[in-house]
Amino acid sequence: MDKIALFINGQRVFATRGATILEVALENTIYIPHLCYHPSLEHPGTCRLCIVEVNSGRLVTSCRTPVEEGMEVKTHSPKVDKAVRILVELLIADHHASCQGCPGSGRCELQKIMSNLRIDRRRVRRLRPPKEELPLESLNRCFDYDVNKCVRCGICVQTCEDLHGVSYLYFVDRGYDTKIAFFGDESKCLSCLKCTIRCPVGILTSKSR
Ligand code: SF4
Ligand code: SF4
Repeated sequence: MDKIALFINGQRVFATRGATILEVALENTIYIPHLCYHPSLEHPGTCRLCIVEVNSGRLVTSCRTPVEEGMEVKTHSPKVDKAVRILVELLIADHHASCQGCPGSGRCELQKIMSNLRIDRRRVRRLRPPKEELPLESLNRCFDYDVNKCVRCGICVQTCEDLHGVSYLYFVDRGYDTKIAFFGDESKCLSCLKCTIRCPVGILTSKSR
């Protein structure tokens, strides 16, 4: 394997040429916030939370940027922290959350990100109160969906397509109303439950729990 060396937060690390900055950071237990990244899937780069600063201060999404020999990466800097904080606050403002009683609590990537950035959820709420809370949706015979807490990362849709060659789940509606749904015949779902396992905020819940 063709190995190269780079620096993340001043630490020298070795990486396979072609790997992304996010992959290399995670391999070396250096945390970079992310929601739409899953190691088995293509990196859509939609959540943009994995922004880092490279070399002379350029901001890039680390899930879509390959490592380069001698590259210097900062996962924290005033520029990175400001950009990520704005994105997370926007997400939270649109996210019905009390974590109390949430099935995803404890294994939720958004919780982890909020704690990492020390985000004061009450301050965000004061800026923009969330919309009316919608009831839990029974998506099909095997799982339920909490639309209020969906971060629209697309991992469930991509997972289904990756595993079965076709996605039974789709995004429907637009903007803040975007949500996932079965397109057409929901009974075609193979009940593998992989989408529920990979949801980064744990809000697709198996009915057999
Ligand atoms: S349970 Fe399996 S087949 Fe059904 S929607 Fe989820 S990933 Fe697709
Ligand atoms: S249900 Fe989960 S995996 Fe699917 S889009 Fe929403 S947050 Fe992402």
